[in-house]
Amino acid sequence: MQLFASTTRATEKWLFSITIVIVIAILIVIAQVTSNNPGGNYRPILYSFQSTENMEFEQIHMLSESSWTKVDNPVSFGFSDQVHWLRFDLASANTDSKESYIELDYPLLDNIVVWVEQKGVVQEIFSGGDAQPFAQRPRLYQGLIIPLPDSEQPVRVFIKARSTSAVKIPVKIWQRVTFGQHISSVNLIMGLFFGLLLAMGVSNLFFFFTTKNFTFLYYSGYVVCLGLTLATLHGYSFKYLWPEQVWFQAKAVSFLGSATLMFAALFSSSLLEVKRHSTHTEKYLRGLALAFAALTVSSLVIDYAISIKLFLTLLTIAVFLIMGVVIWYGYRKVIMARYYALAWGGLGLSAFSASLDNLGIVSMNAPSQLLLVYGATIESLMLAFILAIGYSRQREQMFEAKEVALEQERNAVGAKQALIDVQRDAQNELEYKVQERTLELEIALRELSEANRELEKLNTIDPLTGIRNRRHFDKRFIAEGRRSRREQTPLALAMVDIDHFKQVNDKYGHSAGDACIIQVATQLQASLKRPSDDVCRYGGEEFVIILPNTDIDGACQLIESMRQTIEQSPCEYEGQTIHLTVSGGVASAIINQDDEHTSLLKLADERLYMAKQAGRNCVIANPKPTSS
Ligand code: GH3
Ligand code: MG
Ligand code: MG
Repeated sequence: MQLFASTTRATEKWLFSITIVIVIAILIVIAQVTSNNPGGNYRPILYSFQSTENMEFEQIHMLSESSWTKVDNPVSFGFSDQVHWLRFDLASANTDSKESYIELDYPLLDNIVVWVEQKGVVQEIFSGGDAQPFAQRPRLYQGLIIPLPDSEQPVRVFIKARSTSAVKIPVKIWQRVTFGQHISSVNLIMGLFFGLLLAMGVSNLFFFFTTKNFTFLYYSGYVVCLGLTLATLHGYSFKYLWPEQVWFQAKAVSFLGSATLMFAALFSSSLLEVKRHSTHTEKYLRGLALAFAALTVSSLVIDYAISIKLFLTLLTIAVFLIMGVVIWYGYRKVIMARYYALAWGGLGLSAFSASLDNLGIVSMNAPSQLLLVYGATIESLMLAFILAIGYSRQREQMFEAKEVALEQERNAVGAKQALIDVQRDAQNELEYKVQERTLELEIALRELSEANRELEKLNTIDPLTGIRNRRHFDKRFIAEGRRSRREQTPLALAMVDIDHFKQVNDKYGHSAGDACIIQVATQLQASLKRPSDDVCRYGGEEFVIILPNTDIDGACQLIESMRQTIEQSPCEYEGQTIHLTVSGGVASAIINQDDEHTSLLKLADERLYMAKQAGRNCVIANPKPTSS
């Protein structure tokens, strides 16, 4: 950004130097051309007579020598609607060349009548001024040109002038050849000048269309109106633009001048961005522009003498106001105002001197009219330069604003991304924690279920013997009953009871009894052959054995072998040998009904009872008991 700004400042300095070089070059060319006096011209000595009443030429002709007063040439009478008479003498009409001209170089005079007299006889009468159509002039020149008679006799010339504007009569006598050179150089300068203004007007109008920046439009309006005003002051407009419109020519200066100043006020206000610094000053400038706009329109209807005075009053206000703004800006170190002051300085100075000349307060030499052209050239070039840098600064500010906005956007995007990252991290962390907790929970659940299983197992284990208990038996018996029914396989069940156990307790004590119960249980468990076989403590010294998929014979054999094992291995307890026997009841059936397994248990129990009845230490599987 800093780099961009410094580059722009460098471009500005470069552009400023170029503008100054162009201005100096143009001024040198103009000075060269104008200083190159072709010679062959001089200003005759003028005598003036001011008549209060409307006098005829004959009366003037008869006036005594003392009635005439010697005046300066050019003579200026200021704003006066009186009739002014001038008189001058030429020793010889054609001293140096064949033909000569009288030039009255003030194109704005309304009515001019010129009498050319030789030997007291009026040779020719010319009438001119812009109160009559251009085509009626004796020579079609933007100023007034009166040819002298082709004779070597002395000539006396009378001029009658009347105008609603300032009356200024610069009289010059020209040789024909030198006059032609003079006209061509003046036309060259003026052509260059108007061409420059027109080019600027058109290019800035295009700038306005492309940029929609009104400053360009105001500037375009300003240079075009300025060019037209100066063209009117120099008589070019009447010659080329409205040669027939006498009524407009009479009002053109105040009309175009007002329009020029209207654009100048708008342009200044817009270019210096007055609104940004002071809304009051902006209002004054707008008011001034409005006043000039009103004057532009009204100058077409009101009297020229009034409108030009109003114009000059407003112009004075405008100059002071604009210069005031510029000084204030300069004080506040607004660089643009310095360039602007430089631009207006040239024109202001030349316009001021031209106005004084116009009002007849001071009298300028004829070439000093070119002052306005100099001033306007410097000013329009400088303004074009200011406009260019103003626009480039605006663009720079716009770019800066855009850059700032872009930076902010970038920051916002960055912040958003950071937020998204934080959110994502938080989510990841959360997910990780959830996973961690889930895992922990799963482990806890697994541990819990294992503990549950353990508990379940413990619930089904008989604490004394370590084999399954009655609770387990109940569940297992129902399940095996269903399997038997489903698979249609026989389910065998055996009830085993230690014989005369009460006596064992009584004889050896309860602890010995417990040891006996443990030994029997261990032996029963060890005797099982299939993984699906199960032995449970039914209660006290009673055991129940489930034998799935086992018929009555197989079951009987197994229980019988158990009985024999127990009988043959007495329990050794604290040095005592305790002989034990058991009785068993066995039943087997294919379960076909819901509670048929209950009947199976009952049957096994009945057969145990029968074994007891039969003398104990035997197994009964059917009504016929097996015995030892
Ligand atoms: P039977 O041959 O008719 O079965 O005679 P029994 O004496 O074995 O029969 P009874 O049912 O009259 O007696 C069982 C005895 O078993 C009663 C009880 O004191 C004893 N008993 C039951 N459970 C335990 C136990 O856990 N430990 C010990 N030491 N004795 C038990
Ligand atoms: Mg018993
Ligand atoms: Mg018993």
